[in-house]
Amino acid sequence: MATRLKKIRNSLVRNATAVKATGAELTPASAVALGLMSATAALIVGLSVTLTATVVLGLIKPKDESFYKAAPYASLAGTGAGALLGLVYGSQASRKKRSHQASGEQTKAWPGWRDFVVTRKVKESEEITSFYLQPKEPKEPKDKGELPTFQPGQFLIIQLEIPGEAKPIVRTYSLSDYSDRPDTYRLSIKREPSPADLDVPAGLASNFMHDHIQAGSVIPAKPPSGKFTLDVRSPLPIGLISNGVGITPMISMAKAATQLNPDRPIWFVHGAKNGQFHAFRDEIMAVAAQNPNLKLHFAYSRPQAEDSGRYHSTGHVTTELVRSLISYEAEYFLCGSSPFLTSLREGLKNAGVPDSRIFFESFMKTRKATPNSSSSEVSNGQESAEIVFNRAGKTATWTADSTSLPDFAEANDLSPPYSCRQGICGTCLCKIIEGEVEYVETPTAEIEVGSVLTCVSKPKTAKVVLDL
Ligand SMILES: Cc1cc2nc3c(=O)[nH]c(=O)nc-3n(C[C@H](O)[C@H](O)[C@H](O)COP(=O)(O)OP(=O)(O)OC[C@H]3O[C@@H](n4cnc5c(N)ncnc54)[C@H](O)[C@@H]3O)c2cc1C
Repeated sequence: MATRLKKIRNSLVRNATAVKATGAELTPASAVALGLMSATAALIVGLSVTLTATVVLGLIKPKDESFYKAAPYASLAGTGAGALLGLVYGSQASRKKRSHQASGEQTKAWPGWRDFVVTRKVKESEEITSFYLQPKEPKEPKDKGELPTFQPGQFLIIQLEIPGEAKPIVRTYSLSDYSDRPDTYRLSIKREPSPADLDVPAGLASNFMHDHIQAGSVIPAKPPSGKFTLDVRSPLPIGLISNGVGITPMISMAKAATQLNPDRPIWFVHGAKNGQFHAFRDEIMAVAAQNPNLKLHFAYSRPQAEDSGRYHSTGHVTTELVRSLISYEAEYFLCGSSPFLTSLREGLKNAGVPDSRIFFESFMKTRKATPNSSSSEVSNGQESAEIVFNRAGKTATWTADSTSLPDFAEANDLSPPYSCRQGICGTCLCKIIEGEVEYVETPTAEIEVGSVLTCVSKPKTAKVVLDL
């Protein structure tokens, strides 16, 4: 018995060490679950031993009284062993589950589109509003509303039926919260205005979300995806650097690291115009209050009097600022406006940070009011290419004036699906039946063999047949 107890004790110590080593700490919720599992096992084993002892004593009716005296001790020993077994089993199960989550593996992703109901709409700043989404109905009875886990930094692709639009509008939005057992997804969307220098309509989907989507609205979404993700198991310090709405994946990353690997040093550096435009200030401060390894820095470019004491520096987030805060080796995650990304990526590289430690996501490709012919020329040296839209039974001629394959398809009365226009979200993935295309930007979405991401490609051969 002593050897068995020693083995169980050693197993518990090993488990505790392994949980620590993966960075998968027990949360209060999992500690309560472990306690319950242990108490249940104690009850079951204790009762079984008592019952067995009673039946055996009743059957053999031993004359020696010491047998009857030993019975309560046997029950107690059974209860204790049950409690220990429950702990060992529970901690092993918990470790397996949490290291699986820490590795970012996804569970139970649904195929295609799934309807979500907006359960809450919360204003986060002057221009950013959050939308909380829950599945309209669980796909399987065992689902009970729990959603697939996701890697911090991933996004959802959503579809909006906007009155007046010929086809559903597809857009990509980062998941702006994190839980290792999500039952709700949160998207936080900036109302996109028209560019100051152009007479064009304001952002279609973002303004529709702000103005017309309310609690109770139903939105179809594809499962979480995307490769701009934080490996929560890595021990390297992290710089989460953002401006404007680029804060959304950073909140998710900061929360995931805090929950799953709290020993990891994090610098959360964010730039906003001023307090009115600063989303999630209180939320990230609450996370930092729980995690002494999470350091915050807020830079306001145009602070107002009422912001006094609520930010750390005046001006934009620059490489100099970041380097003055993070002087050690770190992984840098960047998300924000185009000028911000260009300057930080260049600056960090020039400061000697290797490419392998700089990760970035750009939310919006600047739309060109006039086509840029130089990037659209057919790359085989010819003036034009024949594009065959196989399903539609249409053939059209691509010339140097053509901007992108989705625009080209739309100009030919087709409605191909696309969203990010940067080869990130994968919405425009399409089978290529004949010919070849060339990527004008390096895509990051997964590309199946025999398929192409049309939003960042142009024809490479004189004839291209697409499954559109
Ligand atoms: C991976 C990823 C994650 C993202 N995460 C988020 C997020 O968390 N939160 C968020 O708010 N956004 C996010 N985005 C951006 C989002 O997907 C949308 O691009 C954004 O909401 C704008 O969409 P829209 O339909 O409102 O604007 P669009 O209608 O696509 O217009 C975009 C801009 O172009 C202007 N425009 C319109 N017509 C023209 C024209 N002819 N010429 C030039 N300009 C024109 C509009 O005024 C607007 O400023 C993400 C994007 C990606 C790729």
